[in-house]
Amino acid sequence: MRKLEDLVDTYLHKGLRKKLVDTLKEKGITDENVLNAIHAIPRHYFLDSAFDKIAYEDRAFPIASEQTISQPYTVAYQTQLLQIKKGDKVLEIGTGSMYQTTVLAALGAKVYTIERQKQLFDQTPTYLFKNQYPNIEFHFGDGFEGLPLLAPFDKIIITAAAPKIPEKLWAQLKVSGKMVIPLDESETAQRMLRLTKKKDGTVKREAFDTFSFVPMLEGKTQK
Ligand code: SAH
Repeated sequence: MRKLEDLVDTYLHKGLRKKLVDTLKEKGITDENVLNAIHAIPRHYFLDSAFDKIAYEDRAFPIASEQTISQPYTVAYQTQLLQIKKGDKVLEIGTGSMYQTTVLAALGAKVYTIERQKQLFDQTPTYLFKNQYPNIEFHFGDGFEGLPLLAPFDKIIITAAAPKIPEKLWAQLKVSGKMVIPLDESETAQRMLRLTKKKDGTVKREAFDTFSFVPMLEGKTQK
C-alpha cells in the first residue's frame, strides 16, 4: 500500500485537477462544495502509480478485484444528488478505492462504508487520510444487509448497479432521508434515482440520467 509521505501532489496534478473541475462544471455539476472537494482531493493517490498521468481524465479506471474507481463525473453527480449537510450520517455501499468515501467525508458527513471484496476491504486499515478524515468507518460485508445496528441513516449512496431497491437499506433510512441508487434499467445501463422517504413511509421517486456501473452482488468474498 502506498504511504502518504511517499506520494507527491505536484503543480501538474493540481492543474489537471482544476481542469477536471472545469469539465465537471461544463457537464452540469453546480454544487460548489462538491466541486471544492474534487478540487482538494488528489485522485491519483487512490490509483496505482501507472495511472498517475491520466488520473484526472474524467473516466473510470480499474482497481483491484476487477472493480473500478467511479468516473469523477459520476462521483460528483451522485454526491450532488445526496445534498450532504455537515454531520449527516451517510451509508455508502461499495467502498472500492475509497475515493467517493473521501469526497463524502470532505463534505463533513459521518461516513459508514461497506465493501464485499475482501482484497479491497483489506486496504482500508492503511487509508491515507485517516488523520484528516477520522469521520469514516470501514465495514466488510454485504451491502444488501446494510448496517442495522448503526441505522438509521440520513443518506444512503449505492455505488454499484443495483438489480432492485434493497429493502433492508430502505428500512435503514430516516424519515426525510434520501437514497441515491443506480437501478438496473437494462443489462448495461442504470437509471440514477433519488428516493426520499416521506413522513408516511412512502417513497418520492426522482429519476435522472443513465450510467454504467459494475454490478452490486450478494454476499461477500472470502479472499
Ligand atoms: N465508490 C467506489 C466504487 C467502486 S465500484 C469508488 O469510487 O472507488 C463498486 C464497488 O461496490 C466495488 O468495489 C464492489 O466490490 C462493491 N460492491 C458490489 N456489491 C456490493 C455489496 N453487495 N456490498 C458491498 N459492496 C459491494
